[in-house]
Amino acid sequence: MKVLKFGGTSVGSIENIKRVKELITDGDKKIVVLSAMSGTTNVLVEISDLIKNKLVDQAVETIENLHAKYNDVIDELFETSEIKQEVGNYIDKVFELLTTFTSKKHNELLYNRIVSQGELLSTFMFTKYLNQEGVNARLLPALGFMRIDKANDPDDFYIKQNLQRIIDEALPAEIYITQGFICLDAVGNIANLQRGGSDYTATIIGAVVDADEVQIWTDIDGMHNNDPRCVENTHAISNLSFDEAAELAYFGAKILHPQTVMPAREANIPVRLKNTMDPGSYGTLISQEYEGEGIKAIAAKDGITAIKIKSARMLQAHGFLKKVFEIFEKYETSIDMITTSEIAVSLTIDDASNLPSIVEELEKFSMVEVDNNQSIICLVGHSVVRHHETHRLFKVLQDISVRMISYGGSNNNISLLVNTNDKITALKRLNSYVFEFATT
Ligand code: ADP
Ligand code: ASP
Ligand code: MG
Repeated sequence: MKVLKFGGTSVGSIENIKRVKELITDGDKKIVVLSAMSGTTNVLVEISDLIKNKLVDQAVETIENLHAKYNDVIDELFETSEIKQEVGNYIDKVFELLTTFTSKKHNELLYNRIVSQGELLSTFMFTKYLNQEGVNARLLPALGFMRIDKANDPDDFYIKQNLQRIIDEALPAEIYITQGFICLDAVGNIANLQRGGSDYTATIIGAVVDADEVQIWTDIDGMHNNDPRCVENTHAISNLSFDEAAELAYFGAKILHPQTVMPAREANIPVRLKNTMDPGSYGTLISQEYEGEGIKAIAAKDGITAIKIKSARMLQAHGFLKKVFEIFEKYETSIDMITTSEIAVSLTIDDASNLPSIVEELEKFSMVEVDNNQSIICLVGHSVVRHHETHRLFKVLQDISVRMISYGGSNNNISLLVNTNDKITALKRLNSYVFEFATT
């Protein structure tokens, strides 16, 4: 069994929906995970913000505009008036529900309920479309099996049991369709796996059904060696190890949700990245195998806060790091990069929601400096640290103000912290430098 995930662009137009149908109807049994149609989740977030800011008229207008777009899709995708009516009824109900939300008090649960509608819409329409085309496809409701625990990790036991039950209860089908992104939380409320989370849904399902392969179909031909939104002439990397792909995803390669690789790595299930618009291109295969040495790719993650903590007691104050880490632990804030000297430690976090409390506690025994608007640039490959050419990349740094460097923490990764304003220049310089010498 394979698990195939199609992202927003892949189901974002009539033409692409038809393409996806062609790609998945090869006779093999599979589970297909769908995102919302491209742009939908962003509009839903906008609706949630309007409700939060009590801009009810604007929220209602935005809901109506989105509804009109879906009505156009129904008109074009479906043939008979019966099926148009059936799908139309479902879609009308979703938009009625959204409208009732405009008079509700805004909170996290309301946000979660609003943003979940995109995947509910896309999967319902797509399943009906496949049925219209004579394909034996069935919808498996993700909210019947996908669940996260108190630590926001997938509850594998629950997911496995319930997914199996739902498949057993459903009539036999060639293709099972389910929603990406959405899930229940530990107390059974509607929640999600964070933006871009449909990729993660696919590998979570892949691991629990012990899939032969998970395929992530998107709008680009695989993981590129640098961020194609910032740098020209990037190219797809054919093979990546789980560790390399995990680091790239974690450090900002948007093609994969940061946690996507984890379930696949644990269950040793290969993940293939493919382009819906160019299915013939090889894409990227992520597996246990390491191929080649040296830097393979560069990624960047924005929204980083750097914190410098200087010990007030100065030299040889043992126990200082322990006290520092305990504070981050207390506020459940994970640290990405860290460098230390005898009297100070610099570290980075990407979740600054508890920063004021953290700083307040740190200041009880140290001097603290905070820098916002930082980006981590991450160079990833196998044995990058031992690679005999790696030192040459530091030449490029003479032009860029680098706030921190992490080298040697792992064999697969060198991380640099720069001001976000310097990110694109740094990515471009590193790109020409790293990949020029990598080929010589
Ligand atoms: P989907 O909607 O299919 O999930 P995403 O927009 O989430 O698609 O991810 C695909 C996009 O990720 C690409 O269009 C590309 O702009 C961006 N991207 C960022 N970094 C990389 C990278 N290193 N390799 C490939 N794509 C990347
Ligand atoms: N639709 C969700 C989002 O836009 C999930 C996804 O696309 O993976 O974030
Ligand atoms: Mg995505």
